[in-house]
Amino acid sequence: MHCPFCNAADSKVIDSRLAAEGCQIRRRRECVCCGERFTTFESYEVVMPRVIKSDGKSEPFDEAKLRRSLMHALQKRPVTQEQIETVLSDIQLQIRRLGERDVRSLTIGEIVMQSLFALDHVAYVRFASVYQDFQDVEAFRRQIEQMQHRGQ
Ligand SMILES: [Zn+2]
Repeated sequence: MHCPFCNAADSKVIDSRLAAEGCQIRRRRECVCCGERFTTFESYEVVMPRVIKSDGKSEPFDEAKLRRSLMHALQKRPVTQEQIETVLSDIQLQIRRLGERDVRSLTIGEIVMQSLFALDHVAYVRFASVYQDFQDVEAFRRQIEQMQHRGQ
């Protein structure tokens, strides 16, 4: 990659370490021309399945959208940015592990709910109430009981 400061084509790696729980390599580089340092990240190219929405239309998986809904549910909750990143990559790993080319948005919602349930109960309730659009308190209570039975 070209130096972001002077656009020179050459840089040397001065440090290399694993990041994001071993899913990324972070490289500290130094430009051989201007001596400025910058960081690059290397990670797998992963293909996420397409998402089939409830109306039957499909769309590409959107990490930014998933991140936004997680951040929304976790607003002002005692979780670190690190924990959010971990849960975000864990959710995507689970989706990839399904091994399908198309995954229903319903399935993704359930994976997200399980992950949130393990992380923070308040965030789980927030996400579930928006996602499932519960008609009554009873339906909501049943959902929570179901989650608890799954041994989270
Ligand atoms: Zn440079």
